[in-house]
Amino acid sequence: MRRNILLNPGPATTSDTVKFAQIVPDICPREKEFGSIMEFVSRELTELVGSNEKYTTILFGGSGTAAVEAILSSVVDNKIILIINNGAYGKRMCEIAEIYNLNYIEFKSSQIETINLKELEEVIKKNNEESKINNCGAISHLAVVHHETTTGILNDIELLGEICKKYSIEMIVDAMSSFAGIPIDMYKMNIKYLASSSNKCIQGMAGISFVVADKKALNNTQNIKPRNLYLNIYKQYSYFKDNYQMRFTPPVQILYALKQAIIEAKGETIEKRYKRYKECCEILWDGLDKLNLNRLIDKNISSMLLTSVIEPQIKNYKFDRLHDYLYSRGFTIYPGKISSENTFRIANIGDIYQDDMRRFVKILEEYFTGII
Ligand SMILES: *Cc1c(COP(=O)(O)O)cnc(C)c1O
Repeated sequence: MRRNILLNPGPATTSDTVKFAQIVPDICPREKEFGSIMEFVSRELTELVGSNEKYTTILFGGSGTAAVEAILSSVVDNKIILIINNGAYGKRMCEIAEIYNLNYIEFKSSQIETINLKELEEVIKKNNEESKINNCGAISHLAVVHHETTTGILNDIELLGEICKKYSIEMIVDAMSSFAGIPIDMYKMNIKYLASSSNKCIQGMAGISFVVADKKALNNTQNIKPRNLYLNIYKQYSYFKDNYQMRFTPPVQILYALKQAIIEAKGETIEKRYKRYKECCEILWDGLDKLNLNRLIDKNISSMLLTSVIEPQIKNYKFDRLHDYLYSRGFTIYPGKISSENTFRIANIGDIYQDDMRRFVKILEEYFTGII
């Protein structure tokens, strides 16, 4: 099969073994044989970030946003959720909160600098004092994106987890583009709910979104008046726990591919995968430096899984032309997403290796040498 290298921030490049794992005899997803596939997927996804004793993974058919929407619409009662917005995905969580009529506070933060934790803590303190005086809800949840794929900034969820501990707040993390790419320890980081999907750093096919939840926290959501049907995480969890089935039709073949992707991730280990991604990133950054192309995010706060490149002030430069040049040579890049600066994005997640990145950098050089 032709090998395309996807340098867009997901779906990511997959191995042939993951692609071919989808070719299986037809099977009804309510059969035990298929239940064991889903049980494996759920159990092993949990293992990547926590123990199955304390945590559980709830699967949904849908893209990643489904998992984020599932958490937000299922676990917040009538108290307040504080949402950190330092990119498009933080903003999306605010949109979800708005639609479900949640009691939320938006904490806007720079898209290119670290979150001001002092200021954040002030917001929590001030709100909790007011809630005592007015006898209304305190902040019960905090939601944050781990790796903001908008820019490539990596938010420090460990420090946020400590703040949450101090104020008895449950932390929700959108780890869509970091799960299985950057080591995460839900217990150590004090994460109660984590959202991710099958098509980013876990290197599977698009179609499954999942929530890893602290079982104790999840059990406490049983009596919240439901705002959702399909996306209710407690209902999905309790049905799965007893039957090893999803309540609604799962994307059958995507789950076979995900099983294979998990086997490959475990074989590689997340630590080594992170190292591989970072090595690809270094090659990219060296290439960008040579071409005098600047990066939007400082190295010390970058995920090194995605790079926002500031568009050069060259007369003949046009993103579409650059994209098409690279695309016809097997590489896909992605447009930028922030308003303050013109950028394009290059992700280095997926089944890609240093040689792929070296080839990419060479073609990028060729292109820019040609247009100057
Ligand atoms: C990819 C991504 C999502 C989900 O996007 P979908 O298009 O729904 O898969 C959510 N949050 C972050 C940080 C992401 O990178």
